[in-house]
Amino acid sequence: MIISFDLDDTLIPLSDTGFPTEQRNVLQKILGVERIRFGASDLIRHLKNQGHKVGIYTTSYRPKLKLRLHLLTYGISPDFIITEKENRRELAKRHISCSKYPPAFKINLHIDDSPGVEREGHKFSFQTIIIKKDDTEWLNKIKTGANGLL
Ligand SMILES: [Mg+2]
Repeated sequence: MIISFDLDDTLIPLSDTGFPTEQRNVLQKILGVERIRFGASDLIRHLKNQGHKVGIYTTSYRPKLKLRLHLLTYGISPDFIITEKENRRELAKRHISCSKYPPAFKINLHIDDSPGVEREGHKFSFQTIIIKKDDTEWLNKIKTGANGLL
């Protein structure tokens, strides 16, 4: 199945008080690689090993190549990256008024921190798992949710 992750405040903390993050090495600091949620790289590897396609679905305009390189420094190699540019294009094509619409990209499960995205999921019939910043059970929630897709 195809699983996507939001970035801001889901995998990447927007502030220092967000959630525990993985250790960055000297090279990552020099390159200005963003911090990533502790456990994220193991989780994504785990999901990919289970046979899922795993990628990024963000409403930010980060340059894709830079994002891909930065994620690679954590050992993360996403199967796809969707940024706001394509997101807007697909939403406009479908005349859908929401912030994200995972079915447009054949995504079966989307992980996000936004209750708004959860509401959109109910309204437009797509599956989400919403993870709060202080959720210590987030890894298990996602693994369980993904198992349901196998
Ligand atoms: Mg977010």
